[in-house]
Amino acid sequence: MRFLPLFFDLTHGPVMLVGMGPQALAKLRILKAAGALVRWHVLSHDDVEVDETEGVDLRIGLPTSEDFLGAVALVASAGAATDQRLAGQARAMNLPVNIVDRPDLSTFIFPSIVDRGDVVVAIGTGGTSPVLARRLREKIEEVLPERIGEFAGLMGRYRERLNALRHRGFSTRQFWERVIDGPIGALFLSGRSAKAEAALIIEVDRAGLGSPQQGHVQIVGAGPGDPDLLTLKAFHALQSADIVLTDDLVSSAILARVRRDAEIVHVGKRKGQPGIGQDAINSRLIAEAKAGRNVVRLKGGDPFIFGRGGEECQALEAAGVTVTIVPGITAALGCAAEAGLPLTFRKESTRLSIITANTAAGAENIDWSGLADRSTTVAIYMGLTAAASVRDGLVAAGRDPQTPVAVLARGTRPDSRSVTGTLSRLPALAAAAGEGPALIVVGDVVAHSRAWKEAVELLEMAA
Ligand code: SAH
Repeated sequence: MRFLPLFFDLTHGPVMLVGMGPQALAKLRILKAAGALVRWHVLSHDDVEVDETEGVDLRIGLPTSEDFLGAVALVASAGAATDQRLAGQARAMNLPVNIVDRPDLSTFIFPSIVDRGDVVVAIGTGGTSPVLARRLREKIEEVLPERIGEFAGLMGRYRERLNALRHRGFSTRQFWERVIDGPIGALFLSGRSAKAEAALIIEVDRAGLGSPQQGHVQIVGAGPGDPDLLTLKAFHALQSADIVLTDDLVSSAILARVRRDAEIVHVGKRKGQPGIGQDAINSRLIAEAKAGRNVVRLKGGDPFIFGRGGEECQALEAAGVTVTIVPGITAALGCAAEAGLPLTFRKESTRLSIITANTAAGAENIDWSGLADRSTTVAIYMGLTAAASVRDGLVAAGRDPQTPVAVLARGTRPDSRSVTGTLSRLPALAAAAGEGPALIVVGDVVAHSRAWKEAVELLEMAA
């Protein structure tokens, strides 16, 4: 490490900027963003645009020795010979100097920056590869929540009050860890800042009284299977969990993204074995949250689409536990994208119905009227074993038996399989698709899918 990253307060005196061109302008922008008083030396007025000079002390001509007095730093990009001379002058006066693209002449360099207000990340490569620094910055941008800077600001406002409790042996470190990883952080980062602040005030008061903090539940959609289809928010939730209660539908590739120290509990129905049941799941969620743990309830697809997320949410709220919902990519969207199957199509298919074939009254009693219209795409969840009822019901309601259908099994997983054909043959197609989970899509849009086109090509080759 040749350069130590430090955070420099540039508001106390002028920063000299010498030179023109895009690189000097980039430095001007970053210096202004940091609140620096910039004294900008250019060769003539013609060199600069008026809006660039706003709030800047513009000087014509190179800096004189007097200009160096009182300056807090020098930044230059003014041509090799001038730069070298300026760097020598600055160094002789122990003035921090940056010559653009010349780490050898510089006593400080500009890192690549992720700027989220109070939260700033600096990435340096010692001047060896600005492009690498930029790539790293992009990766960090992706994983840092958007509101993290404002969140830091909120914590900053309560820091003094917490520090005042230190003399009683209170651990402020543990307190803030719980705030950051727990419900308050989750609420704030999901945009509910007023609620987060109210919860923080309660916790600060509880800390004053010596009471422990309460936990929190995040009901998280894991998407259809491919771990890269997790949302960033879901990923953050998995990384901050103390315990994860997961459904069987969630793929092992996704469970591999859970924080290593977290406890993972399978609560869903597993092949051949019943799950622990909804009431037991609700009670467990409540008990874990009340014990102060950071709970993630992980569900396949989206928690609010045939996921019983609504019921769990109500049970938790009734028990006074704070809940946040993290949406996921539902099976219909994930499977359709993978199969190149547009769920709507201009003029042709203007309506999408998401339905389940697993109803209390049984698949043969589903009311199919309203789904017979040609312009409606029907995405049927939990329909694999009820394929014959689905076909019979739709045809009886008036849907054309020649309507294109797709059975999309194990969508977005390594062993995914899509089978297409017409509605009249749906039971055979379902059998050919193999094991679930599988989604049935009925509608003219299926003829636009990649799977359908490939099947047609095969038929033509055989003919
Ligand atoms: N909440 C989930 C749905 C749960 S119901 C979601 O939003 O996707 C379970 C049904 O979802 C399965 O029977 C199947 O119809 C569908 N499903 C879930 N994951 C799937 C996948 N990877 N491929 C195909 N269908 C899937």
